[in-house]
Amino acid sequence: MRGERMNLVGRKYGKLKVLEKAGKNSYRGIMWRCRCDCGNEKLASTSNLNAGRVVSCSHCGKSDAIGGRGVHVNLVGRKYGLLTVLEKIEAHDQRGVAMWLCQCECGNITRANTGNLNAGRATVCGICHQTRRIRALKRVRKTIAAYGFSAELVYSSTGNKKVLD
Ligand SMILES: [Zn+2]
Ligand SMILES: [Zn+2]
Repeated sequence: MRGERMNLVGRKYGKLKVLEKAGKNSYRGIMWRCRCDCGNEKLASTSNLNAGRVVSCSHCGKSDAIGGRGVHVNLVGRKYGLLTVLEKIEAHDQRGVAMWLCQCECGNITRANTGNLNAGRATVCGICHQTRRIRALKRVRKTIAAYGFSAELVYSSTGNKKVLD
């Protein structure tokens, strides 16, 4: 088994540092004893560690949970639409999800939580959002106007054709 030879001791996965092999789990995966940055210890399997599913102890997983999925990542420097993540702010939203300070391409600074960023719900600042909505509305009105106009054209052209035929 390739997994057997894999030695994760000393590696870091998020907040977890792998201390030693701690036996096998029921799926014959290797379990590792890890120490979290907060000092807690946690057992994690090779596959969970490598897949990034376990990145902290359960205690930290709860406080840093992202959209309830228990994964916490550093978003600083990432781009989401017009927003560039500047820094993590020492605040959480009502559900305990991490909040980030982001700069929009228009220069505005805005706050967004991890879930909204990752889900693509936060991609512009509030002002750009408003501008976009107004633009989108105008586009819809234009399309309706254009459609109404062309429908009339089609009608009159076929009408004309009949007359011409
Ligand atoms: Zn911890
Ligand atoms: Zn903006």
